[in-house]
Amino acid sequence: MSEGTVMAQSLYFTFVLSCLICGSYGLVSSGIGITTVRSVDYNATTTVTPTERRDSTTKPSTTQSNKSTNAPAVRLTSTTTSKVLTTTTRPPKTTTTANYSFNTEDLNEGIDKKVEKRVWNKEPEDEPLEFAKWSTRSVKAVKKPKKIWKNVKKPKVLPKKRKPKVVKKSKPKIIGRPSLPECPPLGLESLRVKDPQLRASSYKRRGLGPHRGRLNIQSGIEDGDIYDGAWCAQYEDKKQWLEVDARRPTRFTGVILQGRSSIWSWDFILTYKVQFSNDTLVWQPAMNGTKEAVFEGNQDTETPVLALFNESATVARYIRINPQSWYENGTICLRAEVLGCTLPDPNNIYAWQQTEQGTKDKLDFRHHNYKEMRKLMKSVSEACPDITHIYSIGKSHMGLKMYVMEISDHPGKHELGEPEFRYVAGMHGNEALGRELLLNLMQYICQEYKLGNQRIVRLVKETRIHLLPSMNPDGYEMAFKKGSELAGWALGRYSYQGIDMNHNFADLNKVMWDAIEFDFQNNDKSKLINHYIPIPEYYTSEDAFVALETRAVINWMQNIPFVLSANLHGGELVVTYPFDRTEDWAPHDDTPTPDNSFFRWLATVYASTNQVMSNPDRRPCHNENFQRYNNIINGANWHTVQGSMNDFSYLHTNCFDVTVELSCDKFPHASELPIEWENNKESLLIYMEQVHRGLKGVIRDKDTEAGIADAIIKVDDIDHHIRSVADGDYWRLLNPGEYEVTVSAEGYNPSTRMCRVMYEHYPTICDFRLTKTPKQRLKEILAKGGKLPKDLQLRLRQLRLRKLRASTKAINSRRAAASRKARGS
Ligand SMILES: [Zn+2]
Repeated sequence: MSEGTVMAQSLYFTFVLSCLICGSYGLVSSGIGITTVRSVDYNATTTVTPTERRDSTTKPSTTQSNKSTNAPAVRLTSTTTSKVLTTTTRPPKTTTTANYSFNTEDLNEGIDKKVEKRVWNKEPEDEPLEFAKWSTRSVKAVKKPKKIWKNVKKPKVLPKKRKPKVVKKSKPKIIGRPSLPECPPLGLESLRVKDPQLRASSYKRRGLGPHRGRLNIQSGIEDGDIYDGAWCAQYEDKKQWLEVDARRPTRFTGVILQGRSSIWSWDFILTYKVQFSNDTLVWQPAMNGTKEAVFEGNQDTETPVLALFNESATVARYIRINPQSWYENGTICLRAEVLGCTLPDPNNIYAWQQTEQGTKDKLDFRHHNYKEMRKLMKSVSEACPDITHIYSIGKSHMGLKMYVMEISDHPGKHELGEPEFRYVAGMHGNEALGRELLLNLMQYICQEYKLGNQRIVRLVKETRIHLLPSMNPDGYEMAFKKGSELAGWALGRYSYQGIDMNHNFADLNKVMWDAIEFDFQNNDKSKLINHYIPIPEYYTSEDAFVALETRAVINWMQNIPFVLSANLHGGELVVTYPFDRTEDWAPHDDTPTPDNSFFRWLATVYASTNQVMSNPDRRPCHNENFQRYNNIINGANWHTVQGSMNDFSYLHTNCFDVTVELSCDKFPHASELPIEWENNKESLLIYMEQVHRGLKGVIRDKDTEAGIADAIIKVDDIDHHIRSVADGDYWRLLNPGEYEVTVSAEGYNPSTRMCRVMYEHYPTICDFRLTKTPKQRLKEILAKGGKLPKDLQLRLRQLRLRKLRASTKAINSRRAAASRKARGS
């Protein structure tokens, strides 16, 4: 969900956030001066002479396939030009020499006692916080929900299990959060309750109508917007009400109230009454003994406050929230959620409600905190040991591990030619749906693989899948403790240190745009920097404002040659594609990458198969109507984000990454999880299959047949190159079409050929054999078999990464030492 939307929630919060932004911007701009990217020589993109081009393209590939047993069988299709090479044959699987893997995690090992104490016993940290001031601010921003007074019973708390038992196979079950009453939300927030089900005594204007009185709804930034942030009554008296029609007899158990989302005004309800009715004519008040109950509302505009009704909760069809007092400088405005259990309707008037959609898949549909997530991942790997591998990419600030479930037919290994895919969820810890969907996905793949589902078997055999359900485990635990309805809009979004991880990656866009401008002025297009851009020097220091979690993800991106990824968020329904940053600091502006058409395809694949996004009758989540754009948008055109993971991924690695905003509700109630799985299941699968689009192949030395690493693959005039990985294999995501592909590598003559990408979900194999330049042969003779240095850009990139790793290691050991000292004293 956007920073901008979050910013809109209150003046106080805006202040907090803008400080966070200033902080990170300040650091970035101060570092730019130090970077010396321009001095790098990018000669690797040598232009190809026409003769060379003809040579490499006209030579039939029959000799290629005979040379090595590993080489794929390539056939020539006769088309208008005999140059076009097409094949859908896949190369035989070979485990590569490259060690693209992480050590296996043993989940039988318990959680570190110190970490356990820190995260769950709420004891103060026993070590100094580097960014303590950020942390307290962001945590303060959302206050604790106030206790409800006298007439309300306390929510039941389920007994805690002491010792983790032996993990059984997970059964499908729906359990509410322990801190919530048994009845789930009717769905004002999730939009399960439709606009016509909401009525009010009066309202100020359309943008503040009853349909806006939904928990966590976000206002637009303009005053008087038709997408405003609450229901607001037209009159200021005690007769105003917001009415919810549950459309079925319902046992109402409680109300959650929140003030108005606005950057212009400050409105919330202090106390309110509640009435019930079966026909909207006769109304019965909620009682507290013999007196009409008065419930305590809000103390600020943001914090949701829960009120539970007495045991003798009324069964009715309609409920009214009736404000009695409100913030003195404000007016009657509120956002609400209603808790209730719908009862079977004997008249069955609304048949559609009885055939409520769920899912047939037997998955563990509930919210999993860190410990539960570990258990679930362990149970999946025990159920499918042959295709799974659990590893950790690092630890959060609080010491929680960032677990990844790897799924492939040869887990733990990169196979020659097999593309690597990743899903990342929970970068914003309170956007909890992505985490559960990835946990669902790993269970589903395991189950279906064992059942022999052909689609899943093929996916697992041909792809190496990596699922990171929780990139911000500290933030998630904060939100989880409050629960799905009471966490509000921002609690848990940030890392423990208060860092927004989606602004925390190195800003390579600026590096690139500066370089392009410089090169343009110098009229030297051969030096264009458009990929594998090194991290700026400032970013590698120990003091750099870079979260441990971000460092871990960057390290992960380096260790695995990812081809495609999606980054799962929540709080909207839209898929965004890079760039995420505008070039000239505009708040929003369409800023396409050179691969715009493929990115639009990727976004469309997800959006058009998601059952909620693709529903033409859906209403907008908050303040933007993305249906106008078929539910996809260029990230920067929505709102500019500097240092996003998607932009970094595209400019620093070979990987294409989009952001999926999965649902209007960031933290849906557990009862919504089965339907949310069904909404996203096809999208999650079909998106992964896109990793097999475009071209792939192996680049080899013509004499030795050895794979050539770091060769540059240039396609047509797309100003974004990619590189081959350790054993010479490469993947170039592309839409169907005919492409002129040029491969160049240090010390080799460049080679060009035509390759055609088909419509099928199979990549076209497009291999290359490169011949060494005479100069290179001479150099090698002189080096007597010694390794020759790589090109400067690569060397700089590797150097900076080594520095980043070293500073991360230093931070970790400093923290460990401080913690040992604290324990010792
Ligand atoms: Zn987000």
